[in-house]
Amino acid sequence: KGKAKKAGKLATKAVNKAAVLGAGIMGGGIAYQSAYKGTPIIMKDINDQALDLGLSTAAGILGKLADRGRIDAKKMADVLNNITPSLSYDSVKDVDIVVEAVVENPKVKALVLAEVESNVSDETILTSNTSTISIDLLAQSVKRKDKFCGMHFFNPVHKMPLVEVIRGKDTSDETVAAVVAYAAKMGKSPIVVNDCPGFYINRVLFPYFAGFSQLVLEGADFTAVDKIMEKQFGWPMGPAFLLDVVGIDTADHCTGVMSDGFPTRMAKLENDPVSALYNAKRFGQKNGTGFYDYG
Ligand code: NAD
Repeated sequence: KGKAKKAGKLATKAVNKAAVLGAGIMGGGIAYQSAYKGTPIIMKDINDQALDLGLSTAAGILGKLADRGRIDAKKMADVLNNITPSLSYDSVKDVDIVVEAVVENPKVKALVLAEVESNVSDETILTSNTSTISIDLLAQSVKRKDKFCGMHFFNPVHKMPLVEVIRGKDTSDETVAAVVAYAAKMGKSPIVVNDCPGFYINRVLFPYFAGFSQLVLEGADFTAVDKIMEKQFGWPMGPAFLLDVVGIDTADHCTGVMSDGFPTRMAKLENDPVSALYNAKRFGQKNGTGFYDYG
């Protein structure tokens, strides 16, 4: 301890056991990645089917790796054993870190964060995988604000190297250091960013989506935009397909947070096609239909 102090280093809390709240697109991916890199994780949801989906997503990724000869049956079993699905907070009592990855709704997140805080030790770090909601706003619902920050993964978690670690105004240096270390242990490349709606990446991505929506409102065919962005511009996927991958519900909630946060730059669009799909319950790949249909 003395040595670390002399060297001006922080004693970084090690994460040996984690929990993720939500077993959806992101929660399932975070559970897989943590488990794959050797940190056991409790995956908690309120819905049994979501837990099954989270586990089968992990099994699917492992199956592909096994088919390519990149892992053996033991590694596959070890990774799956590292993920404990749960419907109860009892199982998260002794974890070092919690990553909240429930729906992008500040009220739901506030309830979930307050609830989980009352079920873990005073030493447990709490984080949110929110895409856009201010960490200081979410911090209002937790008591130990120094042990709270954003830990924002990208989709698909097992492929995307970046993790934004978002420092709130009360987040301690020790908490930031521990979350950065856990992200690195998960094989990710963390960056530490300041708090504001959308943080770093989504302040770039959501104006792009807004530009796309504007084009569609002006009469552009979304399939043509996708084709041009992919084939001629060379991006891995176009905006409509990417919105389906993100989830139309999540994208619509994020757009709302961004336009509330930046009312001039990200002004709400009337008849936004993303909101129209959301109102039609076309949530993208997750429920089989969005901009495109997934049979
Ligand atoms: P999702 O709809 O796939 O999953 C959300 C999950 O949360 C569902 O399984 C739901 O049952 C569960 N849930 C709801 N209330 C809960 C509660 N009280 N306790 C436990 N679980 C609960 O959504 P997602 O895409 O995984 O997004 C989750 C979070 O990650 C959001 O904040 C989103 O903004 C963020 N995020 C999403 C993406 C993306 O591309 N989808 C990328 C980065 C960050």
